[in-house]
Amino acid sequence: MGVHRSALCRGPYGGEGHQADGTDCSDPAVFEVARHNRPPLLVCPVHLGPSLLLAAGVLWPPVVRLIGRPS
Ligand SMILES: [Zn+2]
Repeated sequence: MGVHRSALCRGPYGGEGHQADGTDCSDPAVFEVARHNRPPLLVCPVHLGPSLLLAAGVLWPPVVRLIGRPS
């Protein structure tokens, strides 16, 4: 899955498609959170912490990758 500059935060719940309830953040994604059997969750700095506890399938301990920087 390619991640580009315009990737937006999907936190803190990490829903996809029609299940994207609660993912109304429109900030650029800065971190990628690895998940079981799901695409990585892209989140902004504000939602990194909440997403680790609220999103489905997050690995524990968390596996987080820096994918960008706030502009
Ligand atoms: Zn966010």
